[in-house]
Amino acid sequence: MPRNEVLVLGGGFAGMAAAASLAIRGHQVQLIEQTGSLGGKAARLQRQGFHFDLGPSVVTLPDMLSAPFIAAGETPPRFVPVAHPTRYDFPDGRTLHIGTDPQAVAAQLSASEWTAYDALLGDARSLYEAAAPTFVHGPPPSLWDLTQYGMRHGLAAKPWLRLPGYLARRHPSSHVRDVFLRFATYFGANPFRAPAVLHNIAWVELGIGAVNPEGGVAGLVHAYERLLRKLGVQINLHTQVDRIAPDGTGIDVHVTQAGGASRRWRADGAVSALDAARTYRLLGRSHPSQRWTPSLSGFVLALAVKGVSPERMQHNLIMPARYEQEFEDLARGRHPRDPTLYVSISSKVEPAHAPAGWENWFVLVNAPPGVRTDKAAYARHLLGLLKARGWLEAGQATVLGAFDTDHLERFATHGAIYGRMANSLGATIRLGYDVKGLPTLKLAGGTVHPGGGVPLAVQSGVHSADALHQQL
Ligand SMILES: Cc1cc2nc3c(=O)[nH]c(=O)nc-3n(C[C@H](O)[C@H](O)[C@H](O)COP(=O)(O)OP(=O)(O)OC[C@H]3O[C@@H](n4cnc5c(N)ncnc54)[C@H](O)[C@@H]3O)c2cc1C
Repeated sequence: MPRNEVLVLGGGFAGMAAAASLAIRGHQVQLIEQTGSLGGKAARLQRQGFHFDLGPSVVTLPDMLSAPFIAAGETPPRFVPVAHPTRYDFPDGRTLHIGTDPQAVAAQLSASEWTAYDALLGDARSLYEAAAPTFVHGPPPSLWDLTQYGMRHGLAAKPWLRLPGYLARRHPSSHVRDVFLRFATYFGANPFRAPAVLHNIAWVELGIGAVNPEGGVAGLVHAYERLLRKLGVQINLHTQVDRIAPDGTGIDVHVTQAGGASRRWRADGAVSALDAARTYRLLGRSHPSQRWTPSLSGFVLALAVKGVSPERMQHNLIMPARYEQEFEDLARGRHPRDPTLYVSISSKVEPAHAPAGWENWFVLVNAPPGVRTDKAAYARHLLGLLKARGWLEAGQATVLGAFDTDHLERFATHGAIYGRMANSLGATIRLGYDVKGLPTLKLAGGTVHPGGGVPLAVQSGVHSADALHQQL
């Protein structure tokens, strides 16, 4: 088998999966990553005996995450189903625990609420199962694939409805409605403007279920890193890509290495697992992706919280007084005053993530892409909200880290977690892997097909690597 030298740009999950796939195919792979560690948005913070995963915390679709290990003939990481449902606290004092056990959910709902919930879960399943073959599994859909999907399933996705209108058909209570609305944010979308088809995302967590990787998300990053080293991938950290250019049939990449030295790297081909708009900028090309409305960004607090409470779950959501207002603020480019507070406590399942008698709270709220706020003041404001909602007492929490959208701008244009804002049907379709006129450069990552989220980023890396392999 010919041994081509190939570059993989970016060491997030997509880049790691692409690098593994290319190495399995016998190519000599150089992975180039600007920061000092792999994982990209799945960044970590270790402080005063606490561990925080600063990016993804809900892991789904483990088969996709295992695929590169299985292809390499290695044992995949261990995944355990999330044991406890997600806790939702509503502003009127109601609490719901929503997980994959239908009886446990039904027991908390009124008869009419359960009827609506059950119907909406069934809708999500139908939409997901219809869309997944074209939009989740496999390479980017062709025009023919899109037409076939449209003819077979297009009407069931009610393309004329936005998500709230679609949910309203089943007459849910405001609590059940808000549980289902929230899943559109997993695509970085505004739930009140998102097209109905994004309802399919709910099935992945509420129907199929989330899992915990051994060692948490950090454990998953380390498992990928070990796989890459075993496959002989050369990992170049602290190496920033400054320019990408065609070079005959190959690709030329200009980088700045640790210490400031510049280097030109010539390769037979490359997968760019940077965000797509950044790849085009580094190519010196303009592309519509650079002008698209960016998806939501995030503001994160890492809290050391004294005391361990069995009432708090691994995943918790404190819902705002008016969910719609949060997205009105975001649309105006403001950090919301009353946002949904997502509190993930990984020490519930990984006791080593916090000292005994303490919990590690990763608090994530939606933030407007490309906009910064006064970090310390907003952190105080969020702590105030947690106290007002009975989640914290005075002096119970210490802020070990606060991260605004500039933290995410290192990884993605405007710090947009999911690339393009999916506020219309067309905007839900992600870019393919090809770059016009450059057959030996392919795109991968959360901003291209099949989209964001860890399993989909891995999927894009695997398929984009296949596309490059075919070309070499
Ligand atoms: C706060 C937050 C919460 C999230 N929650 C979840 C969740 O619960 N579940 C889930 O599945 N997903 C979640 N996600 C989304 C998920 O993390 C991403 O979709 C996924 O990790 C994207 O992987 P990627 O490889 O495409 O991109 P990235 O992880 O962004 O990787 C890109 C890499 O390229 C590097 N890079 C960029 N520019 C250069 C350059 N010029 N030179 C060299 N290297 C460069 C970056 O440093 C980075 O390592 C979350 C993300 C965030 C930020």
